[in-house]
Amino acid sequence: MELPLIVVHGGAGKWKDERIPPGKTHVERAARIGFEILKGKGSALDAAESCTAYMESCGKLNAGVGARANAEGIKELDAMIVDGSRLQFGSVAAITGIQNPISLARYIMEKTDYNFFAGSNAKRVYDKMIFEGYREQKAQGVVDFDFDIDTADTVGCVAIDMDGRIAATSSTGGISDKVPGRVGDSPVIGAGAYADSICGVSATGYGEHIMRVLLTRMAAIYYEEGLGVQGSCDKAMAMFEEKTGSEAGIIMADNKGNIGASTNAKAMPMTFIAGEGKIATSLALLDEIQSL
Ligand code: ASP
Repeated sequence: MELPLIVVHGGAGKWKDERIPPGKTHVERAARIGFEILKGKGSALDAAESCTAYMESCGKLNAGVGARANAEGIKELDAMIVDGSRLQFGSVAAITGIQNPISLARYIMEKTDYNFFAGSNAKRVYDKMIFEGYREQKAQGVVDFDFDIDTADTVGCVAIDMDGRIAATSSTGGISDKVPGRVGDSPVIGAGAYADSICGVSATGYGEHIMRVLLTRMAAIYYEEGLGVQGSCDKAMAMFEEKTGSEAGIIMADNKGNIGASTNAKAMPMTFIAGEGKIATSLALLDEIQSL
């Protein structure tokens, strides 16, 4: 495959049948938004942020405005962005009152001396981000992006720009009925997402289990050992299932333009776009995508 590329997932889990078509639609739109940026020679980080922000804003996926509420009815959001070319990341956990934690995660990575903020103090960092004009707001807590929203699971992507730089994201409202303050894998580097100069990975599923095996970092290690992207995804998921007996999914891409994905869940809607704009959307059944 050719660069640039973007691969996007809308969460692995027990998708109700009626949620699958809108889920696929929004994942595909998110991928198109990210790919347009890449095609216009935009950076992997810009593409990954916009693509993820779309999924946070669409209301149909478990992130941002569509996030699952916690056991007390409050949406507490977790998100992370990873800049593989610098091995840097920004994360935010258990934040309330905002819709687009992915932009805050990027601000934390690029503009603060820290990597990870949580809870009400993370909201103060968000307010500072808006005050400094790093991002505009179009409504309280809602970052102004250049896309229209006309219209349950964690979202994430891996984007690779024309220069081969890799960015990976994850963003979520977390698992059903979570206790206030619970944070899963999504904002944890090497668990919910990972990227370096050769590959990027994003994960979804039960955070408690994904963190225990550092699922995305392990996939990258398998890649470094020479297994290729699909082999690394398969080995990471086999290791995850063996050690935890749990459910998850991962997507992966390398700087040569190869992609892989693996899940043991019922569904993980995903879209892949590469090169001149060849696109494939699937329920994680990779045959459609790999036939590109
Ligand atoms: N990984 C997320 C979490 O545990 C949930 C998901 O992927 O749906 O918070």
